[in-house]
Amino acid sequence: MNADVLVIGDGLAGSAAAIEAARMGASVALVSTAHGSSDRAQGGIAAATRPEDSPQLHALDTLAAGGDLCDPGAVAMLTSAGPGTVQWLESLGVHFDGGSAREAAHSLPRVLHLGGDQSGSTLMAFMRTAIEREPGITRYGARLQSLIADDSVGGAVFSSGLRLRAGATVLATGGYAGLYGRTTNSRVSNGKGILEAARAGARVADLEFVQFHPTVFDGARPFLITEALRGAGAILVDEHGERFVDELLPRDQVARAVAAHRGRAFISAVHLDPDLLSHSFPNFMRNCARIGIDPLRQPVPIAPAAHYTMGGVVTDLDGRSSVDGLYAAGECARTGVHGANRLASNSLLEAAAFGRRAAAAAVTAPKVRNAGHAGPKPWRRGSLTVARVGELIDSAAGVLRTGIELKDALAKLRSGVVSSVAADASDMASMICAAALARPASLGAHQRQDEPDRIAV
Ligand SMILES: Cc1cc2nc3c(=O)[nH]c(=O)nc-3n(C[C@H](O)[C@H](O)[C@H](O)COP(=O)(O)OP(=O)(O)OC[C@H]3O[C@@H](n4cnc5c(N)ncnc54)[C@H](O)[C@@H]3O)c2cc1C
Repeated sequence: MNADVLVIGDGLAGSAAAIEAARMGASVALVSTAHGSSDRAQGGIAAATRPEDSPQLHALDTLAAGGDLCDPGAVAMLTSAGPGTVQWLESLGVHFDGGSAREAAHSLPRVLHLGGDQSGSTLMAFMRTAIEREPGITRYGARLQSLIADDSVGGAVFSSGLRLRAGATVLATGGYAGLYGRTTNSRVSNGKGILEAARAGARVADLEFVQFHPTVFDGARPFLITEALRGAGAILVDEHGERFVDELLPRDQVARAVAAHRGRAFISAVHLDPDLLSHSFPNFMRNCARIGIDPLRQPVPIAPAAHYTMGGVVTDLDGRSSVDGLYAAGECARTGVHGANRLASNSLLEAAAFGRRAAAAAVTAPKVRNAGHAGPKPWRRGSLTVARVGELIDSAAGVLRTGIELKDALAKLRSGVVSSVAADASDMASMICAAALARPASLGAHQRQDEPDRIAV
């Protein structure tokens, strides 16, 4: 046995899990590759910390966003863990900017920021320092290939031949929005952990629920354009400068309007105060300068892009999957807190709160002694590449879906691939398309254009 607990992924969920497990006395192996979404978060972390707020009010907002698919018990667990999670992070040395902001569909100011609009990278810098202080954590840089599994999971095999056996394995590998061609995520967020969990027999669910960000630069090097810019008065226009949507509608409604719009869409800030833009939106101005656009003179082309994924490895409230020895936390888990649509800023809270819970369960559970072996490397002869897989799900499993397109994409995805990496991408994309096909009615972030009600209208 190399470690009591193997944590795969060092975003917020994996970091929280590793620290918690080490502080409970476990030896921890923490493995990761490139930075995932935690480092990219710009907004902040939601928690009911103000006197006029409460976990119950936070829960009501979360349930309203996620619809009937939320698990009310999981939501209550998440929101009541909010204030304690913030205190725990502070006890690790995390320093929040004071005050909290009212954002998205939160009915009260509830979102805590760090480092202004650099919340994710600031938070993760604190977490990495906290990890360095834990002698029980051994770090590895390697890419997950497969889980060591029979009836239970007893570790994992990584790139460069690294093989780690553990009494419990916690997946914290993030979501799968990075599989899409158009995405705000890192390419490392490709659902690999979820795919390997499914291959090891774990239940996965809700893969059809993908949240799209409505305003991402539509060009060779896409970047996210914050919603606060629309809040400050920027408008969405077509190529003739005509507005086609109320910019202050919720994120998914704006994404649908942009996706349904024929022709190109732009965000225009030409009428805004130059001082406001440079002081309040330095990131936006920097990104525009990089691509050679002056937003004070011309509108910026935009399109929706995959941003956050609600589906994943089904877990109970302590991160246990349906397979012994395997736990999941953060964006790769489907805990039931987000239902069909995530309330913004709940995901960092989920990652920290459920990462800790999964670690506590993993440390206290009887250690798995599995004799299993790593799954075979998938490889199929064909012509599909990872980039082509991204294009296929962009068009078939994007903001607006139809059964015909989903079936067509599934057939192409199953037609063949040229490498094991493309085989993984194609298998994960097939699971997303199959889940979207299996849900003929629109719900939350899953919108079918061909559902019977829409056709009747
Ligand atoms: C641009 C952007 C802005 C966002 N803003 C906010 C916000 O303001 N508030 C909020 O609550 N949420 C926000 N989110 C969502 C939030 O950041 C994520 O849901 C959350 O950070 C996920 O944390 P995680 O630890 O589960 O995964 P991640 O942070 O994605 O970490 C995944 C980890 O898994 C590792 N990994 C992945 N695959 C492998 C593999 N095959 N082998 C080994 N390691 C692997 C990676 O190296 C990484 O360490 C935002 C997301 C994006 C993309």
